[in-house]
Amino acid sequence: MEIINSGKALSKLLQIQRNHQRSIGFVPTMGALHQGHFELVKKSKEYSDYTVVSIFVNPTQFNNPKDFQKYPKKLDEDLKLLHNYKVDAVFIPENKEIYPQSPQISLGFGNLENVLEGAFRQGHFNGVGIVVSKLLNLVKPHYVFFGRKDLQQVAIIKCLVNDLFFDTKIITVPTMREVDGLAMSSRNVRLEPDERRASKILYQSLVFAKNELKQGHDWFKIKTKVKEMFDHVPNAKLEYFEMVRESDFAILNDAEEDQDISICVAAFIGEVRLIDNISIFD
Ligand code: AMP
Repeated sequence: MEIINSGKALSKLLQIQRNHQRSIGFVPTMGALHQGHFELVKKSKEYSDYTVVSIFVNPTQFNNPKDFQKYPKKLDEDLKLLHNYKVDAVFIPENKEIYPQSPQISLGFGNLENVLEGAFRQGHFNGVGIVVSKLLNLVKPHYVFFGRKDLQQVAIIKCLVNDLFFDTKIITVPTMREVDGLAMSSRNVRLEPDERRASKILYQSLVFAKNELKQGHDWFKIKTKVKEMFDHVPNAKLEYFEMVRESDFAILNDAEEDQDISICVAAFIGEVRLIDNISIFD
């Protein structure tokens, strides 16, 4: 497994792969890897001849400096596991490699960024768009892999790739969960034991709302019940609970439409902000 820190060295290595007609799969991550990340790696290995994983905690996508400082890191373990998964190359750039100067451009995503994560994390998707653009330009992958855990991010990346003609195919991977339903996330290790127990509420509320919708119940009544559920959990603070059309993240008030619809939730459990979502037609 090649471990590369410089963008130039990475581009050179990958050009050799392309010259040998090998297809390149790319999995961008922020490290502190868990099974969710490895599902992306497995998919990449299925689709491509050569798999590259990047580990870079991107400062420009953090709206909260404390969240950035406390973002979990375990590089040695990550590398061992990536080696076991037979990843071909890991790109671990320093900050100055990705940002030799602070970016002068900013990226807007219209209505997509005015709701949910975009509304609650000002500047987040600008940072995501910039770092993903830089990484796609360095790696030039045939396939790039993203988790449905970050569903709005998937919509943002689709917009980026379509609008800027990035020559890559986006593949999405279902959310991996712990036994009690909590979506795997690098941030979960920051939860204290009582918070870890409280964090089940995210998935529970999604499953509850989905079942209520299936029984034809009114969305506003469901939301009220969900708010009450959160109020009863110590340490839990609901930020949003919305039903959206997946393609453009339009907020919906009923589920009658014949489209891909998901329910998205964000909540603080203690100091840790978690997000999750569920498709209502699975
Ligand atoms: P991150 O390291 O959190 O930036 O995530 C890197 C990639 O892994 C993103 O495409 C995420 O959507 C994906 N991912 C994170 N958690 C999960 C999960 N539980 N299941 C599937 N994919 C995930």
